[in-house]
Amino acid sequence: VKIIFNEKFHDSSYADNGAAATGRMESVVSTLKPKQDYLWKTAQPATEAALLLAHTPQRIDEAKLDKPLYAMACLAAGASLSAASVAMAGEPSFACVRPPGHHASRATTWDYCVFCNVAIPLLQLRQQGRIKTALVLDIDAHMGDGTIDVLQEWPEAIVYNPHGDTGRDYLKNVEKRLAEMPPVDILAVSAGFDAGLNDLGHKLSAFDFYQLGTYCKLFTRRLGHRRRFAVLEGGYYLPDLGKNVLAFCEGFE
Ligand SMILES: [Zn+2]
Repeated sequence: VKIIFNEKFHDSSYADNGAAATGRMESVVSTLKPKQDYLWKTAQPATEAALLLAHTPQRIDEAKLDKPLYAMACLAAGASLSAASVAMAGEPSFACVRPPGHHASRATTWDYCVFCNVAIPLLQLRQQGRIKTALVLDIDAHMGDGTIDVLQEWPEAIVYNPHGDTGRDYLKNVEKRLAEMPPVDILAVSAGFDAGLNDLGHKLSAFDFYQLGTYCKLFTRRLGHRRRFAVLEGGYYLPDLGKNVLAFCEGFE
């Protein structure tokens, strides 16, 4: 797995919320860094042209009013673009970013999200004629309403927010749905970890996240390609966050 990151994501002062919490990036980085076979790539900010693929000019202008937040959000979108480009070259990737993006709609946003990180590279690849179809698997505890909104005018883009009362049901549903899914040119994962056992969702163990990563790998393998990438969304119980991200990446690879 190639990890997309930028040292600037360590800065917790860009906002005052759970996604910006001190120690959050450190939880992930300190767990992934010792993995000798993970390569790291430094993210660059997304251009405004890329943001405009997913958001209205008014929404972008509004986001610019908060300079530190805007700068961080451009970097998060840029990391997602980079993750997708690594995936297009046949290498699975994970973008460790904040702010998250799946509650960012075309013209509005809420919660901790600013730009729809996961949708921006998909729309760019589509515009470039490099993909026609895509699947977004959103494993965050909350529904990715922003992603659904941003991709709604693209019928061949499927957004799947799994459900399940227990971890076991959840995994069963994902496995079944992926097995029935039509072929897609790329798989993007909105990788939230707030459904973790000790996090808000109280549902998924580290092994469950490993399984979810594995399902993603097997899904693209069935389609005969390796084009899959994941972008960090939520995940707020810091003692487990890094561990769960690593478990996901181990399955995803
Ligand atoms: Zn969430």
